[in-house]
Amino acid sequence: LSEKLQETFKRLKSKGKLTEADVNEAMREVRMALLEADVNFKVVKDFVAKVKERSIGQEVLESLSPGQQVIKIVNEEMVALMGGVSSKINISSKPPTVIMLVGLQGAGKTTHGAKLANMLKKQGKHPLLVACDIYRPAAIKQLEVLGDQIKVPVFSLGQENPVKIALASLEHALSQGLDVVIIDTAGRLHINEELMGELKDIKAAVKPHEILLVVDAMTGQDAVNVAESFHGDLGIDGIIMTKLDGDTRGGAALSVKAVTGCPIKFAGIGEKLDAIEPFFPDRMASRILGMGDVLTLIEKAQEAFDEKQAREMEQKLRKQEFTLDDFLDQMQQIKKMGPLGSLLEMIPGAGKQLKDAQIDEKDMSHVEAIIHSMTQEERRKPALIKDSRKRRIAKGSGTSVQEVGRLLKQFEQMQKMMKQFAGAPGMGMMGKGKK
Ligand code: GDP
Ligand code: MG
Repeated sequence: LSEKLQETFKRLKSKGKLTEADVNEAMREVRMALLEADVNFKVVKDFVAKVKERSIGQEVLESLSPGQQVIKIVNEEMVALMGGVSSKINISSKPPTVIMLVGLQGAGKTTHGAKLANMLKKQGKHPLLVACDIYRPAAIKQLEVLGDQIKVPVFSLGQENPVKIALASLEHALSQGLDVVIIDTAGRLHINEELMGELKDIKAAVKPHEILLVVDAMTGQDAVNVAESFHGDLGIDGIIMTKLDGDTRGGAALSVKAVTGCPIKFAGIGEKLDAIEPFFPDRMASRILGMGDVLTLIEKAQEAFDEKQAREMEQKLRKQEFTLDDFLDQMQQIKKMGPLGSLLEMIPGAGKQLKDAQIDEKDMSHVEAIIHSMTQEERRKPALIKDSRKRRIAKGSGTSVQEVGRLLKQFEQMQKMMKQFAGAPGMGMMGKGKK
C-alpha cells in the first residue's frame, strides 16, 4: 500500500497546481490502496468523496508540492474519521466502576482485562478481575495466572452461572474496598444468540459503566462486522483494538469508528501485560497510509511556511510599513486558523500583550466592515481619519463612530508596540520560534 501511494503522490508532485483531473486520478488510487488495507467499502467511498471535495481548488501551500498537499488532506481527514483521542475509562463517582469486556474468542479479552487492570493499578486504582468465562476451565486458570503476575486479585466461582458470578463479584469488591471491577466474559467463534443472550443478561444484572469491545485488528473486515453486531445488539461504549503489533495495516481501525461511531480507546500492541496504549488516530492514519516519513516532511514544510510569514512581518515592522490592511490580514488569519497567535508567540513578549486584545467572531466582522469602508490612503495613513471621515466610515460599515474610534486606537497601540519590537535586539530571532 505504502509504495503504491508514494508512487501516486510522486506523480502528482511535478505538476504545478492541483487540477480536478489530478485529484481524481490520485483519489482513484487512494481508494484502491484503502480497500487493499481492508477498509470497509462504504467508508472508503465516503472518505474519497470528502477528500476530493476538499482538495480540488484548494490553494497549495507555498512550500508544499501539490502532491504533499493532497497527502496532508488525506491524513487530516483520516484522523478526523477516527475521532479525537478518547482513551478515558468512565470512572464512576460511586465505586465500584464496572467494566465489561466482550468480543469473540481469541480477540484478546482476557489478556486485555489484565492489561487494563495493570494500567489502572498503576494509576492508583484497586482493580478486581472477574472470571465469567465458564466454558473452558483453562480460561479461569489463565486469568488467575495473569492476575498473579500483576498482583491483582481474581474473583471466580468455577462453573457457576456467569450472571451470578458477576453479581457476587460486585459485593466482593465492595467488601474488599476494590474500586474497579473488570469482568472477563466468554466469547464464541462466531456471534450467535446464545452469546448475545448471556452478555445481555450480565449487562442487565451489573449495569456496567463501560462495555468495551475487544477486536483483533488482524481480522480486518470481520472486525468491522463484529463491531457492528455487538454495537447493535448489546451496545458498546468503546473499542480495544488488539494485535496492532502485527504487520496488519490496521484498515479496520478506520472502518470500525466510522461504522459504529464508537471510539477506539486502546490499542493492544503485544502479549506482555504492559503492551497497551491509548489509541492515537494520527499515528494510526500514518500507519494505514504507510507514510510516516512523508508526514514529518510535510510538518517541516509547514513550519518553514510559518517562518516565511514571520520574516515578512518582520520586514514590514522594520520598515514600519504596517498598515490597517496588514492589521485586517492578520485578524482574518487569526479567525481562519490562528497562525498569527503562533506567529506572535515568536515575537518575544508580544503574544502575551495581544492576548488581552482577543477578538471574538462578531467583533471581527465589524473590524472587517470598518476597514473595508476605508480608502486605500486611509488604510495606509490612519492619522488622516478625523471626525468627518469617521462618520463616513461608520455609516459605510454599518457600525458606530465609537467603534471606528476604538479600532483606530487598537491599531495605534499595536503599531506602537510593534515599533518597540522593531527596535528590540530580539527581533532577529523572530521566526525561529520557541514552541
Ligand atoms: P480471549 O479469548 O478474547 O480472552 O483472548 P485472549 O486474551 O486469551 O488472547 C488470545 C491470544 O491472543 C493470546 O495468545 C494472547 O497472548 C494473544 N494476544 C492478545 N492481545 C494481543 C496483542 O495485542 N498482541 C499480540 N501479539 N497478541 C495478543
Ligand atoms: Mg478469554
